[in-house]
Amino acid sequence: MTRRDDVRALPLYKQGDAQGVDAVKLSSNENPYPPLPSVLKVVTEQLAGINRYPLMAAAEVRSAIAVRHGVEPDQVAVGAGSTEVASQIIHAVAGAGDEVVFAWRSFEAYPILTRVAGATPVPVPLTADLRHDLPAMAAAVTDRTRLVFLCTPNNPTGTTLSTGEVEDFLAQVPDDVVVVLDEAYTHFNRDQDAVNGLDLVRRYPNVISLKTFSKAYGLAGLRIGFAVSSTDLSDDLRRVATPFTVTNLAQRAAMASLLAEDELAERVELIVAERERLRSGLLDAGWPVGPSQANFLWLALGADTDRVDAGLRAAGVFARSWSGEGIRLSVGSVREDDRALAALASLRS
Ligand SMILES: *Cc1c(COP(=O)(O)O)cnc(C)c1O
Repeated sequence: MTRRDDVRALPLYKQGDAQGVDAVKLSSNENPYPPLPSVLKVVTEQLAGINRYPLMAAAEVRSAIAVRHGVEPDQVAVGAGSTEVASQIIHAVAGAGDEVVFAWRSFEAYPILTRVAGATPVPVPLTADLRHDLPAMAAAVTDRTRLVFLCTPNNPTGTTLSTGEVEDFLAQVPDDVVVVLDEAYTHFNRDQDAVNGLDLVRRYPNVISLKTFSKAYGLAGLRIGFAVSSTDLSDDLRRVATPFTVTNLAQRAAMASLLAEDELAERVELIVAERERLRSGLLDAGWPVGPSQANFLWLALGADTDRVDAGLRAAGVFARSWSGEGIRLSVGSVREDDRALAALASLRS
């Protein structure tokens, strides 16, 4: 049997976990609020139809997304979460011998999905203040580069890119290189200078804005995300998509969520306010935590990471940690965040 050695060399994606009855799960940047009643209702209605395949063209939800963002439905491609859409993008533009550039540390799926497609990941270290090093990323673009991921706000550091910075970057990158703005956390951003991917999609045919219903819209468990780009690119994403991954439950839930955006926006406001409360609490206690425009905070703990992570886990608080680097703490409910603050208070070294 011939197997792919490169596949066997891949790391397994590490999901943020939580164990125990009273566990506080702050490890996956999920929305702490339960689904809206209006969303639960349409999902429940759809359950009676699960003997049928979903609508593969996803015409209605693509059209609803298009109306919401002022683009054409043919510019919208969907997938089972924006992780799957990221995979579509990589498969559509990069193959063996091609390079995919991204900042590091950033979203864990980029290097894995790149390798699965047979292409070569080119991680470019973040700057000392945990931002994308755009000059270094531009310099990393070669004639083999097909794709660049820019994650803003960046997972796991919460930093954003400004419009000016991204425009300068785009000016340095050949226009046959596709540039993805991964905006999974864009709803939580309050920095007026931060880039808006959709504005760039309107002006650059090689830019893709990648978004998800998993975070601000609270649909992580249903799996639906989308890309907005030129019709050309969007057609290619539909060509490479695995058929039938986006269920009718997910399509309907996304449409119901778009109708309930005001209600969801109130929740996002509460999460943003809670982010600032949690950060102040951490700063007051002396923890190294930078500003974040997402629904999580980054504790730059370096060599102290494992000790603090073990202490949190022992207290039933589960965050996502990277040994030797730091801990990403998702913003939860007030009660959950108080548990995290209390656990951390007893861990000050
Ligand atoms: C959470 C996340 C996504 C999207 O996740 P899906 O649930 O697959 O939509 C995409 N990019 C980043 C950077 C994320 O953190």
